[in-house]
Amino acid sequence: LEGEFARLDRLNLVAQMAAGIGHEIRNPMTTVRGFLQILGAKGELAPHREHFDLMIDELDRANSIITEFLSLAKHKVDDLKRQDLNAIIRALHPLLEADASLGQKTIRLDLGEIPEIYLGEKEIRQLVLNLVRNGLEAMGEGGALTIRSGCEDEEVVLAVHDQGSGISPAVLKKLGTPFFTTKEQGTGLGLAVCQNIVVRHQAQMSIETGNQGTTFLVRFPFHVDFSHSSLSGENDFHYTGL
Ligand code: ADP
Ligand code: MG
Repeated sequence: LEGEFARLDRLNLVAQMAAGIGHEIRNPMTTVRGFLQILGAKGELAPHREHFDLMIDELDRANSIITEFLSLAKHKVDDLKRQDLNAIIRALHPLLEADASLGQKTIRLDLGEIPEIYLGEKEIRQLVLNLVRNGLEAMGEGGALTIRSGCEDEEVVLAVHDQGSGISPAVLKKLGTPFFTTKEQGTGLGLAVCQNIVVRHQAQMSIETGNQGTTFLVRFPFHVDFSHSSLSGENDFHYTGL
């Protein structure tokens, strides 16, 4: 699947332009949402309740698309410093558990001994969050999602493993294409954001999938040179079937 992942350089250019108007679009949307809420609560409009809820949902969806688009537009890894990936994951754990418990699912942590590496904390949180949410969404009711960390060949490996039904070859081919989603409420930007974060960390993302579930792996090399940090075209999305 090498080369399947859309070149994010070009995407970034588009995203930068979108970022400019993204902020401006949000303010009027907030106003509209507020009035919809007020109107929707009126007794005489009760027969239209469903429509008001739908309009608010759709506004929220538009808003999350803007949020994800804005995070795509950011170029540099912010506050990049040597830190412990496990600490970031542990801090995020309660939030992930809350997400998981909505569907009677659990999050297991299996965090190994790893050295500190250069990470942008906010971006890594976003990366883990996006991968975990996708995993949870793939699982239906119940099941466990595992977040693993460890070392392999001078790299820190982060693995997010779900017990979902896997990803079909047809879907795999389109992964990372902005706005590609198989979900009713999806934005199709989660993985594009992840890939962008991974590339900025000079890491690599790969997927193992089968009917036992899916694992997203991210490999962070111990030694990286961020002195001329920009997007290189060398970081494609690698896929390994199980
Ligand atoms: P969204 O979650 O909004 O649909 P993403 O970019 O996060 O957008 O994911 C794109 C698509 O990739 C999803 O709609 C889904 O079909 C597929 N996908 C991503 N992660 C998984 C996973 N862990 N298991 C199964 N399918 C997945
Ligand atoms: Mg997603």
